[in-house]
Amino acid sequence: MKYISTRGGMFPVTSAEAIRRGIAPDGGLFVPDELFKIPYDDIVSMVDMDYRQRARKILSGFLNDFSDSEIEYFILMAYNSDNFDSVKIAPLRILTSQLFIQELWHGPTSAFKDIALQFLPQVMVKASEKAGENLETIILTATSGDTGKAALEGFKDVIGTRIIVFYPENGVSEIQKMQMLTQEGSNVYVIGVKGNFDDTQNGVKAIFTDRDLAVKMSAKGMRFSSANSINWGRLAPQIVYYFSAYADLLATGNIKPGEKINFVVPTGNFGNILAAYYACRIGLPVNKLICASNENKVLTEFVKTGTYDRNRKFKMTISPSMDILISSNLERLLFEVNGHNSDKVDRWMKSLKDEGIYKVDDETRNKISSLFWAEYSNEKETLETINNVYEEYKYLLDTHTAVGIDVYDKYVIATGDMTKTVAVSTASPFKFNRSVARAILGREQAEKSTEFDLLEVLSKKCGMAIPPGLKNLDKRPVMHTRVTDKEGMKKATGEILDL
Ligand SMILES: *Cc1c(COP(=O)(O)O)cnc(C)c1O
Repeated sequence: MKYISTRGGMFPVTSAEAIRRGIAPDGGLFVPDELFKIPYDDIVSMVDMDYRQRARKILSGFLNDFSDSEIEYFILMAYNSDNFDSVKIAPLRILTSQLFIQELWHGPTSAFKDIALQFLPQVMVKASEKAGENLETIILTATSGDTGKAALEGFKDVIGTRIIVFYPENGVSEIQKMQMLTQEGSNVYVIGVKGNFDDTQNGVKAIFTDRDLAVKMSAKGMRFSSANSINWGRLAPQIVYYFSAYADLLATGNIKPGEKINFVVPTGNFGNILAAYYACRIGLPVNKLICASNENKVLTEFVKTGTYDRNRKFKMTISPSMDILISSNLERLLFEVNGHNSDKVDRWMKSLKDEGIYKVDDETRNKISSLFWAEYSNEKETLETINNVYEEYKYLLDTHTAVGIDVYDKYVIATGDMTKTVAVSTASPFKFNRSVARAILGREQAEKSTEFDLLEVLSKKCGMAIPPGLKNLDKRPVMHTRVTDKEGMKKATGEILDL
């Protein structure tokens, strides 16, 4: 298997090269040139496997230029009991006889991005080695909260790398901020920016393309890279847990052999749900993929109408990791459902860039809606869902997962479909605890406490353990105090790298 660009402007490359580069030189995203199939018997054989063995089965197909022992090593380094507080890595909970919840947040930062970002760093280092490149990789990231911390945990102390994370000083939650400021590791740097997320992201983009820095970097044997969600090395490990959920349902007798299931996915950049699409393409029996959005409902409208329109006001919601108007990974789906027609994709992406809008043809729209169903949940509905599910099942949802469950309810009402469904849960309820507390304890109680106190309050009320990564967060030593205005971001980077 080789990887090609969705914009058609390059020769096929290995997975190592696709992961090393992140984005294709023509501005497109890397996708497999042709897909393999996992025979159904192999899925059945996963019933008796642990998560690591399941991962090996799937990932050896997608990363086929890496040796078996290399892949085994990446998997062992990522999915172990030091990093995850559940031996199942992505355990499945039964909510009703129809609805199951797959918890993807047992990693070090309590959100699902750990599953990809615990895996990516080792692969990147090896990919760089395979390219014969003897350079130190400097990961540069702007974060609005979740990604930065997950990347820090993934790259900490990985030899051959350093990581610099910029975050908007007043634009992340108390917990997210403390998670980053207390980050340990000999190769990690966390810098607050006086500005909003856009300022921070623009500053990072400017550093990436700065000629002066590039020259000094290469003289010192360094190169910049990013760990963002368009990297194939982040997508591939997400395909695994969809198979794992199916195998768990088979193992527990909740589905019969061959039975198709639905997945509902709280969606932002379209990475997680795209991984479900690839799982389906390589043989997982899927009926529908339900795409759940919050009030930034660009994707809901796109699936319903075929028009993608980002020209609207950006809303800050209680599910901030889904506050996105440009879902980058959708480009890959458009390329796939159009039989790898890069001219079409190129045209749509150009229109998105220039006008903020594009409309796909009916054939594309029909293909997408034959597999995908989309809806959104507003703020009130999201909070009510948390409360209702807690009252009825004593199960506590985070805000992102609640968007998914509310959209699932709407799906059942709209279609009457009773297919067994797995809702992927993307964050621990403790991580976005102010909104969760508001949902089940009321606004007053939620507003009067700090987020750190709310960890204890929720834990007591619901009898759930606080995840290890969040426990006593406010009592840990602060390791990073650097703050800069947005004009100072380049200077700070130069100082850290001694350029
Ligand atoms: C990143 C994130 C999402 C969105 O996932 P995408 O792959 O960007 O669609 C949803 N929930 C949480 C908690 C996240 O951190």
